[in-house]
Amino acid sequence: MITQLSNADLAQRDRNVLWHPCTQMKDHEAWPPIPIKRAEGVWLEDHDGHRYLDAISSWWVNLFGHANPRINQAIADQLGTLEQVMLSGFTHEPVVRLSERLVEITPTGLDRCFFADNGSCAVEIAMKMSFHYWLNCGKPGKKRFVNLANAYHGETLGALSVCDVPLYKKTYGPLLLDVITAPSPDCYHREAGQSWEDFSRQQFVEMEKILADQNEEICAVIVEPLVQGAGFMRMYHPIYLKLLREACDKYDVHLIADEIATGFGRTGTLFACEQANISPDFMCLSKGITGGYLPLSTVLTRENIYQAFYDDFTNLTGFLHSHSYTGNPLACQAAHATLDIFEQDNVIENNKKLAAIMGQATASFVDHPNIAEVRQTGMILAIEIVKNKQTKEPFPWQERRGRKAFRYAMDQGVLLRPMGDVIYFMPPYVINEEEIKLMAKVALESIDHALKDKR
Ligand SMILES: *Cc1c(COP(=O)(O)O)cnc(C)c1O
Repeated sequence: MITQLSNADLAQRDRNVLWHPCTQMKDHEAWPPIPIKRAEGVWLEDHDGHRYLDAISSWWVNLFGHANPRINQAIADQLGTLEQVMLSGFTHEPVVRLSERLVEITPTGLDRCFFADNGSCAVEIAMKMSFHYWLNCGKPGKKRFVNLANAYHGETLGALSVCDVPLYKKTYGPLLLDVITAPSPDCYHREAGQSWEDFSRQQFVEMEKILADQNEEICAVIVEPLVQGAGFMRMYHPIYLKLLREACDKYDVHLIADEIATGFGRTGTLFACEQANISPDFMCLSKGITGGYLPLSTVLTRENIYQAFYDDFTNLTGFLHSHSYTGNPLACQAAHATLDIFEQDNVIENNKKLAAIMGQATASFVDHPNIAEVRQTGMILAIEIVKNKQTKEPFPWQERRGRKAFRYAMDQGVLLRPMGDVIYFMPPYVINEEEIKLMAKVALESIDHALKDKR
């Protein structure tokens, strides 16, 4: 007889042996992790039969729903043929064709793909390549990175160095690279009445100054184009990217676009860089690249950068970096199925309707006395909860109001998982109008619940 596992059974066993990511494990005394049994479309289902609308695409990875038949089939087909082979000294059709397709769909000039298996590693690779390029060009002095305030680029030490979210970074400060941090173009901080464009332009002044003064020691600037994801879904105007591209060209500094979160349609275009009509020197992709199925990442770069490493082995200019599962064939096939869906289903166009519905469903939220801003870029919408709407003073972080909202929303069947006191939607693209309305309704109720003792 098959025993039915309950949420409680699995949570108990979990507590004995697991250590979860991004979690103070003591929090689980009061609220154990939720064991998910199956998922389909935008819905997750736990072992007790409760369903949750996955409003954040399972940490921003899922694009076309869970158990998507087309992606399932592509992986199953590949599974019978080749599950894995090392990519050093070997190659395979799925990775060759995926590289061809990525070169085709990304901004012009990005003609080479280097694969890894997660986002942080893609960032590490872009950083190492940039430094190494300048070294190979006889400029070893160019070894510092410029990042933006409030940036997030991953958790490994190099990637963490170019982050600027204190909660994740501060503890490890003594271990990290010394980076130069420019003010963020994040438009949440603009003056009342000031446009996004004007504010983002104004914030660029300091970046230009850094590049003008210190370019001889700088190898690259790294940014998340248009949306600073883990930095509370803060958003900015494309003009900043345009100005940055011009300045990077002028001062001989690489531009690294970390599109790990923004890529594959999240911001309303296939890649966020398109909205500024720019092409970076390195583009990092992961998360949605496999539709949220399997770990895969890639760094795209330019032919001239590739050529600076290309020489006789004995000159020791090669890029000798690797990860075991680099370019895994199953993951590549999931990526092919994902790109097929983009091609066949007119996804970017259809998402415009979904984005408009998300906007309409939350349009009245700005009247709420504790909501300072509702901002949206494409399929990402964020709601900023504050103590004082006029001054934008936040609630003391220790009150963990976002977490209260999270818990309440889960009880209503919607997975929101706010960051601090910012509630956001970043749903799979298979969400429908009714589900968007549910997501918005529950978000508002959960905000009111989290503020109950404060009004
Ligand atoms: C998630 C993320 C990363 C890190 O990717 P992992 O696969 O979690 O290592 C890097 N940059 C951005 C912008 C991200 O959102």
